[in-house]
Amino acid sequence: MTTTMALAVMTMTTFQQPVVPVRGLHLMGPSKDQVDQLVAFIRDDLPKEGTNLLVLEVDWNFKFTKRPEMAEPGGLDVADAQKIAAACKEAKVRLIPQINLLGHQSWAENTGKLLTVHPEFDETPGKYEKNKGIYCRSYCPLHPGVHAVVFDLIDEMVDAFGADAFHVGMDEVFILGDDDCPRCKGKPKAELFAGEVTKLRDHLKSKGREMWMWGDRFLDGKVTGLGEWEASTNDTAPAVNLVPKDVVICDWHYENAPPTPAWFATQGFRVVASPWRNERFALSQLEQVIAVRMGGAKTIADRMLGVLHTTWCDFGSFLKAYRGEETGAQAKEAATCFKALMKAARGVSQPTQY
Ligand SMILES: [Zn+2]
Repeated sequence: MTTTMALAVMTMTTFQQPVVPVRGLHLMGPSKDQVDQLVAFIRDDLPKEGTNLLVLEVDWNFKFTKRPEMAEPGGLDVADAQKIAAACKEAKVRLIPQINLLGHQSWAENTGKLLTVHPEFDETPGKYEKNKGIYCRSYCPLHPGVHAVVFDLIDEMVDAFGADAFHVGMDEVFILGDDDCPRCKGKPKAELFAGEVTKLRDHLKSKGREMWMWGDRFLDGKVTGLGEWEASTNDTAPAVNLVPKDVVICDWHYENAPPTPAWFATQGFRVVASPWRNERFALSQLEQVIAVRMGGAKTIADRMLGVLHTTWCDFGSFLKAYRGEETGAQAKEAATCFKALMKAARGVSQPTQY
């Protein structure tokens, strides 16, 4: 290579879009018979997309052995987890398993495994028959028995996937500090929420593992105007000042791109921006990450890790949409948005090309 050619290559490299360090995808865990499809997707497609993080939301769909009463008979087992982990290793993709904790312990009429097996952990036992009138059930963060069970299940799952981090979910927690809970009644909700975050983080840290979580309960829904879903109007927002700063925040916003990733980074947290299916807002979120990373304020810039794209459909539907096969509209939008976001995040296109 001549000096001129070398200089040209160097200049191109220098002025190309900087690569964003974390380029993640959040997937709902596969059913047992979809494991091979997921393995192929990880090996064949994720490297091509430039994706280097997979957050896999397994929830309670796992054949737990440490707490046999929590074993899901048709769920993923250790062998499945190891297959998925091996594919990730080969594809140089960091794998973070997830169980959604505290809230999201029911969906519509169906109560999840934890509160079905351990109804005594319910924050509102005996209330809301058939889960009518509520979004999702929560467990009681102050129940004296809940953490022994939850910690065993987290540890077993993290071990099975050979992971160095765990995502605890904790989004959209609406039932918290219920007036009829003898332990939580009257306690400030920010303290209850922060207490649970800290307890989970301390446990993971004691095992040398990092904690990831959704960020919505830390944002003030009224001050920001972001409302009660992607931010909080149930008094949990002050918890942001009560939790350890080494928790990684996944700051999800699907229908806008507020400057909240930079706010989290300024508060001392590492953060990933998490879009879903709207390309314009996904690229705008990425643009913010890049702007701060290039802005020269190194301490804050280094905390803007990148992006974590969400899918919010079952894995099979997402894969079909990704492959261009016929499936639901939401899955198609999520897949199209994922491709556009990864293309920009890995530095092939400018994020402003929408
Ligand atoms: Zn309680």
